[in-house]
Amino acid sequence: MTAAERLMRIHDLDLLALEMSDPLCSSRLRRLGFAVAPAPRIERWRGRLIEGLEARWRQHYERALRRYGSGVAAVRGRVCQGCFVTLPRSVAAGMDEGVSTCEACGRILFWGLGPRGESD
Ligand SMILES: [Zn+2]
Repeated sequence: MTAAERLMRIHDLDLLALEMSDPLCSSRLRRLGFAVAPAPRIERWRGRLIEGLEARWRQHYERALRRYGSGVAAVRGRVCQGCFVTLPRSVAAGMDEGVSTCEACGRILFWGLGPRGESD
């Protein structure tokens, strides 16, 4: 699993944990028929994923998560959707182990469907 894939899974688990901490949201998911894992299991999955992540990516992700409530941001038309700063040309999709970060806000960047996030 690449660092980018690992970060995406950690982000998904963080969103799931956030939804499960909201009683209204978790009861809505159960009414819809979703069997959601209990919080301790989600924490164990997250812990295993975090352990396998290089320290610098973990620090970027955790710092942005604490500061903004999300450790990741999408990129559209070379603009970070977390802080709305236009990314310099030197920043590209998956530049380092499949991971790139916003130099302005520090979030892990997820690029759009097109090459280098420039398609929309
Ligand atoms: Zn940003």
